[in-house]
Amino acid sequence: MPEGPSIVILREEVAAFAGRTIERAEGSAKIDMSRLAGQVVRGFHSWGKHFLIELDDVSVRIHLLLFGSYRINERKDAVARLSLGFANGELNFYACSVQLIEGPLDATYDWSMDLMSDAWSPRAALKRLRAHPQMLACDALLDQTLFAGSGNIIKNEVLFRIRIHPLSLIGELPAAKLRELVHETRTYSFEFLQWKREGTLKAHWLAHNRDICPRCKIPFSKAKALGRSKRRAFFCLRCQKRYGDSAQIVADEPGAVDEGEGGQWSGLVNAVGSPPPRWSPGTGGKAAHFPPYGGRGVGAQMAGRCRGLVGWTTAPPCPRG
Ligand SMILES: [Zn+2]
Repeated sequence: MPEGPSIVILREEVAAFAGRTIERAEGSAKIDMSRLAGQVVRGFHSWGKHFLIELDDVSVRIHLLLFGSYRINERKDAVARLSLGFANGELNFYACSVQLIEGPLDATYDWSMDLMSDAWSPRAALKRLRAHPQMLACDALLDQTLFAGSGNIIKNEVLFRIRIHPLSLIGELPAAKLRELVHETRTYSFEFLQWKREGTLKAHWLAHNRDICPRCKIPFSKAKALGRSKRRAFFCLRCQKRYGDSAQIVADEPGAVDEGEGGQWSGLVNAVGSPPPRWSPGTGGKAAHFPPYGGRGVGAQMAGRCRGLVGWTTAPPCPRG
């Protein structure tokens, strides 16, 4: 799944269409395509994993979900969810979520929550984190209302860098460690962006998809579906400290927080036909903090296949893959 920095790259790649008029809008997405044709692109934006096309009368929000993709001035051998034609080329999106957003984007999005935004506020992020003392560190880093744009790679890399065990409780982290978490998540996200642009992202992974801890030279612990978010985790039992006792929490609570979108954003954003709460740490964000949703991410799918490995383990991977 594309994480925030990858959406920033998408935004940059489509810059040639900014200020241009949409001449053709079609695709399988269930939106009113007739509202798009003839409109001028006022700007491209990103918020977390959302790619936003701001038009005169409405905005288009695209989420690439787990397997979404896009093509610029070329097409895949598949039906596009959304295809936009301009005088100078075309933009095609596949296997993604497409929604229209009414009204100004500033009314829907709190830009200070976006890891990649100039408006990012570490102070606000700390405040939001402190409101969830029982949350696991691995879940916090996937929670889009805490770190919009963070994903599983960022989670594994950040926790390794700051030596925090993924099952640590947010409320048990020392104040300095919590600040370090916020700081490093932002820092790593921009390194991610730079390395992704260079095509060297994977070469820079220290923990994600790695077998051996580069600090301790011992095998990483690997989990197929860690925490409530049930996503893959790579961590070192020697150099990543576990703060607090989260065993009971992990055993009791079903997975809920994840990034595998199945329409769960609909209650959060000002999508057509739904109430318009502002997405912020206030009532809007809080009320929708653990939105119920039918969609399940890769982690949950893995969990379904590897039930014995839900939680964490140092055992070998699930025999069924
Ligand atoms: Zn280590």
